[in-house]
Order: sequence, then C-alpha cells, then structure tokens
Amino acid sequence: VLRIEGVEKNYEQGGNILSILKGADFTLNRGETVALVAPSGAGKSTLLHVAGLLEHPTAGEVFVAGKASSGLGDDARTAMRLSDIGFVYQFHHLLPEFTALENVMMPQMIAGLSHADASERARQLLDYMRIGHRAEHRPAELSGGEQQRVAIARSVSNAPLVLLADEPTGNLDPVTAGYVFEALNALVRQSGLAALIATHNHDIAAMMDRRVTLDEGKVVET
Ligand code: ATP
Ligand code: MG
Repeated sequence: VLRIEGVEKNYEQGGNILSILKGADFTLNRGETVALVAPSGAGKSTLLHVAGLLEHPTAGEVFVAGKASSGLGDDARTAMRLSDIGFVYQFHHLLPEFTALENVMMPQMIAGLSHADASERARQLLDYMRIGHRAEHRPAELSGGEQQRVAIARSVSNAPLVLLADEPTGNLDPVTAGYVFEALNALVRQSGLAALIATHNHDIAAMMDRRVTLDEGKVVET
C-alpha cells in the first residue's frame, strides 16, 4: 500500500551536502504494522516525511497504493497526501486557535464532508481515544498526552490507507506513553490500517508485526 524505491534525501547545510537517505527501499503491506527503530539523527523523521509526501526525495520514487508520486503536480500530490496518508508528527501540530473537536474535523472538512458528518466522526474518534470529555478544549488547555491523543484522532479522521507516526509517544512519560500507544494500536488494528511507526520504545516496537531500522541511509529488516 506504500512503497519507496531507491529514495535518496540530501540536505544542504552551509554549503555542505548532507546525505541522509542513500537509496532506501521499503514496502508497507496492507494492514501491516511496522516499527522503525533507529538512533537519533539516523533519518527516521526524514524517511517518514518523504514517505508521507511532506518532502520531496532528492532521488527515487514513492508509490502510494501503487501510484507513483514523483510525476504529480503540487495539487495532485497534495490531494494524494490528504486522502491516503495520516500523519502523527514527532511534536504535535494541532492548530492552536481551534478546539480538539475542530482539529479532528479539519481533514474531513477539507475533503468535503458535511459539518454534521465530520463532527459525528470526530466525536467518535475522540471518544475512542478517551478524550471526548475534552472536545471543546483548545490545545493549550490540554495536557501533552491529551494533545497527542487528539493528534492521533485527527491523523485517522479521514480514513487514510496508511498511518505514519513519528515517535507519537516520544515526549510523554512512560505510563502516559503506554496508554496513548495502546489506543493508537487498537485504532490501527480495528480499522485495518497499515502503519509505519518510528519509536525508541522497545515495548511498542515489540507490538508491531515487523521491525526495521536505518543503517547508512538504507532501510534494513531487524
Ligand atoms: P530523532 O530520533 O532525534 O528524531 P531522526 O532519526 O528522526 O532523529 P532526522 O530528523 O531524520 O533524524 O534527521 C537526520 C539528519 O538530518 C540529522 O543529522 C539532522 O541534523 C539532519 N537534518 C534534518 N532535517 C534537516 C534540514 N532541514 N536541513 C539540514 N539538515 C537536516
Ligand atoms: Mg525524528
């Protein structure tokens, strides 16, 4: 359902070229969950951002549901990203001026759902993440774990094919991380989503179907 082939990613930094991904290949199959475990700086966020169509690779191809993304214009690429990919950022990206409920409704409103339908689904997802009682709070009025649960609810609100999560529980205490992750895992399993989750937490990695790492800019099974 998601495939990257020969992906290279360079960053230019003060006149130097930093080569982070060096011909990475990876396939995420339908309904499968994969943990991405690699040291800080190895390129996990870079890989997820490229796979999630948030950044262009320097070379190589990203296929979503069998369709190549590199030839697409900006609008088609954005449309592909919005309809097929859910993303949980390493540091949550909730919109500060909107409530939890509105944040979760946003992707569906962009996709053209009615306000009533978007609101109903958003409430279901917030309830599922056990944060429904905070639906009217703005992000600044939520704890870190609560914000992360809203971000997870938002990432799947548009029923994507693929969920990419970048250390979704990385900045939470171990107990909160445990239950936030359990809710994420249950949501993924229940909806049959394919998920690639970057994590440093070995308990979380052990719950996934498969584990991969980054070695010298390539994806390697572990
Ligand atoms: P962490 O576990 O700390 O989140 P990571 O594996 O996600 O690390 P990345 O964020 O992908 O690592 O970064 C990989 C390397 O690329 C790092 O050395 C980082 O400094 C560099 N890098 C990332 N983004 C940029 C950028 N926009 N410009 C220049 N260098 C960058
Ligand atoms: Mg990272």
